[in-house]
Parts: sequence; C-alpha cells; structure tokens
Amino acid sequence: MTRLLLKVQDLSVAYFIHKQEIVALKDVSFEIERGEILGIIGESGSGKTTLAKAIIRSIKPPGKITKGKILYEGEDILSVDIKRFKREYLWKKISYVPQASQNSLNGVMRIIDHFYDTAISHGITDRNTIYDKAKEAVKMVSLDERVLSSYPHELSGGMKQRVLIALSLLLDPELIILDEPTSALDVATQKSILDLVMKINKELGTTIILITHDIGVANYIAKKMLVLYAGQVMEFGNTEEIMNNPLHPYTQGLINSVPSIYKDVSKLKPISEGEIPLKGCPFHTRCSYVSEICKMEEPGLYTANTRLVRCFLYDKARKNIS
Ligand code: SF4
Repeated sequence: MTRLLLKVQDLSVAYFIHKQEIVALKDVSFEIERGEILGIIGESGSGKTTLAKAIIRSIKPPGKITKGKILYEGEDILSVDIKRFKREYLWKKISYVPQASQNSLNGVMRIIDHFYDTAISHGITDRNTIYDKAKEAVKMVSLDERVLSSYPHELSGGMKQRVLIALSLLLDPELIILDEPTSALDVATQKSILDLVMKINKELGTTIILITHDIGVANYIAKKMLVLYAGQVMEFGNTEEIMNNPLHPYTQGLINSVPSIYKDVSKLKPISEGEIPLKGCPFHTRCSYVSEICKMEEPGLYTANTRLVRCFLYDKARKNIS
C-alpha cells in the first residue's frame, strides 16, 4: 500500500462577488502521507478553512474551485460525482471537525442522538451497533459512557470538543481535518485536546490535518507544516527544521510573535501591519527584506534545503534581488 494518502495540486479557489473575483487560494500544492500529522498555519483570512472546505467539497457559491486537483489515494476527488463523494468519502474516509464546532451540537438533542443521526445518514441503521461504536469512540477520547445520555449544555467546552472528535471517529476515517480545535479553550484544556489528537494518531493510525493560527500548536503536534498567507503557500516542510531555522520572512515573523514559557515576553515582535498588495509578493508590504522586484513580480516556490519557500531570497537563479 502506498504511503501517500492525499496530494493537493495547484488548487485555486475564488469567490465571485458583484462581478469581482476574490482569490481565496492560489496554486496551493502539498501532500500528506498515511499516519502523518500536518499543521496548516496562518493568520485569519489566509485561506486555511477554505482549503479544508475544498478538501471536503463544501465550497458553496459564490465560492468556486477554479483550478487544481485533490488526489486521494490517486483518485481526483474533485471529479467524483458529489453523491458518490458523500457516500464513499465523507465521514468514512475523511472527517472534518469545523471551527467553533462546540456550538454546532444541537442543544435539544442528547449526545447519543448526534451519533444516531450521523450513522443513519450513512446507512447504518441498527441502533445497538451505533451505540456500541459511539461508546468505543467516547472511550477513545477519554470520556465516560454516561456522556452519551447528556445534553450539550451539561458539558464543558473541552468535553464538547472531545465529543465532536469522538463523532468524527464514528465511521473510522483514515483522515481527520481539525479546524482550530483548541480555540476558545483554556491553556490546560488546549494541551489535553492536542494530547488526545496525538493519541488518536498513534493508536488508530489516523492521518491528521490540524488547522491553526498558532504556530506553537503546530510545533507541539505536527511532523510537517504548511504556512499559508493570502491564500498561497509561503513555506512547506519538516516542523523541526522550520522551527529551528524558518526561511520565509513571514514564518520568521510568526515564530517571533508567539509567546512561549521559554521566551522573554519583552522580546516578542509582532509582525508589522500591511495590506495585501495587488501585485508583487503578497507579503511585500509587511516584509523587512523587501526589494524592488518584490513589489513588481510574484515569487515562485523555490526549493531551499528540504523545503519549499515562496520568496525571491531563495531563488537561486537570481543572485541579487535588488
Ligand atoms: Fe520579502 Fe521579497 Fe521574500 Fe516577499 S519575496 S517575502 S517581499 S524578500
């Protein structure tokens, strides 16, 4: 069996509003092997959630995938009939836990009813079978079986997040995409959720894509990192290498602006403000290494060490970029 599970190739997504095309993702490419944890990092508006929604085929008008392929075990899931995609891929192969999903639990339904609904909509109708699977899933996320008969308001934020992760495990997916699973949780609960995600990855072999604005979260959990800015990949590579030696000025800014228990808070440096420009490098209005060419042309993705970096500083064909 090939280790490559998902390969995203030149994916572009745009929103068409008042006859204007607003590009949300541009030529995004990356791949993930079975059993890996990939962290997708970027500030709000960088295209992280759009990327997740493209993978689960839930980009709705006025949004549209304008280009690219998403190969799952070699099959381009963008060209699969949508009914077949929902039947064969969604929940069974790929599960998605959306951002702020703790609020997506229906307040008038017991937790077990959420499991019944999901399973029944995927053709599993035997309630005893569903109950047994739900029991197994909540045990996996370290919750007591009694939680199944509770209502959402009876649970803490951390417990609700665990329930949603358990729900995403119901049909034994190979890949789970978690969108900001630790936002709105206190620090201790954040760590326990990340430890839980690592346990699922290790014990079940589930491949994980974790979306976060916090590079510290990705550093804690992910083997590889994909840094997004303005809908484009800025840097992609091994987490340890990126954290030890970030190459892209934006990645350097993200790392320098993250508080850490080891870092003197007075040495934190926020990334300077700046609008996304209409031409040139999308980061040039915020970059301290900016040169004339950065304002005029868009950099490509260049190979540097074992990484991909979108910055003229790593374009070997240009010795001088000024
Ligand atoms: Fe900075 Fe230029 Fe590199 Fe963009 S291409 S990140 S502006 S040095």
